[in-house]
Amino acid sequence: MRKSVLLCGVAALWLNLADAKPLMLDTHLDTPVHFGREGWDFTKRHSFADDFSQVDVPRMDEGGLDGGFFVIYTPSGPLNAKGYAAARDWALMRAVHIREQVAAHPDKLALAFKAEDAGKIVAEGKKAIFQSMENSYPIGTDLSLLATFQHLGVRMAGPAHFKTNQLADSATDKPRWHGFSPLGKKWVAEMNRLGMLIDGSHSSDEVFDQMLALSKTPIILSHSGCRAVYDHPRNLDDGRIAKLAAAGGVIQINSVYLMKRESSADMEALEDRMEVIDQMSAADQARLNAEHKALLAEDHRPRANFDRFMENVLHAIKIAGVDHVGIGADWDGGGGVIGMEDVADLGKVTAALKAAGYSDQDIEKIWSGNLLRVLKAAEDYSRSAAMK
Ligand SMILES: [Zn+2]
Repeated sequence: MRKSVLLCGVAALWLNLADAKPLMLDTHLDTPVHFGREGWDFTKRHSFADDFSQVDVPRMDEGGLDGGFFVIYTPSGPLNAKGYAAARDWALMRAVHIREQVAAHPDKLALAFKAEDAGKIVAEGKKAIFQSMENSYPIGTDLSLLATFQHLGVRMAGPAHFKTNQLADSATDKPRWHGFSPLGKKWVAEMNRLGMLIDGSHSSDEVFDQMLALSKTPIILSHSGCRAVYDHPRNLDDGRIAKLAAAGGVIQINSVYLMKRESSADMEALEDRMEVIDQMSAADQARLNAEHKALLAEDHRPRANFDRFMENVLHAIKIAGVDHVGIGADWDGGGGVIGMEDVADLGKVTAALKAAGYSDQDIEKIWSGNLLRVLKAAEDYSRSAAMK
């Protein structure tokens, strides 16, 4: 009798483990672009076709996504005091929008500040909302603003975006500094001191090399891909992926820059307008949406599909090893492929990894374990540096 109870218990535990979903975090969710929109509710189900969005609580539930890094994205602008001040205000407002969203739904969302918060928040049945900065342009020449953003909860940042700025060269712009500027090198030290993860996505190769050399802790690429799969400056060559892994870092695979795709001028102009959609009236949002639908209907450029995305994931694992790859698909920032149009489809990634022979343990590392390891390393360094 006791033996069969014990066996039942073991079977139940085994079934439990077999059914257990990995803790799933994506490192590049541009969803805060929608948070300030009039009439837009993160806890309600939306669709990309209807309002451009790819992430909300119901679709996260469907795809199994438990949270991730919600991005304070700031477009590049003039490198002068006026430009810096405007960017600072923009970025602070985005941080406020993230807080307002979490505060409005305390039963469904919670801000996460440390690696260990993720599991605790998810165990309470909520989504873990970490914050990151895409582009450190908003700090201008005042490094103390990094601490301001850190106090607001930001735990990851990259120095530049599409344009080279006061801190570093961009992957998609002409080099000005051949790596970091003198201020950018101090930015690295301050990021380390504050326990913030250094994000190499959008940085030039020279900046990436200097990050590896200068950072006291492993770095991350929050949404990048493999140049061996598609040769683009936003992707990383195999040699650099191997060096990243050897230094303990992690590359989170993007669903953008998977193949050559000529962008249409009309779509680019529309995407620029979408960046300020949270400042539009409901009527203007609807007009923009109608234009978007019309453009999509006549857009016959080839698009990457889910297999191409997985090709990137599997190539990165081949080069870096399973301890150094994760997922950061640039949702609400241009991400999505045929067969994986929004986060509701993320279960397909887990299924494809299983089909490729990866264990549940490996899959958990890819979905969150590797990210949380590097985040904890940044926290630990900050604590030990403060004690010195
Ligand atoms: Zn980006």
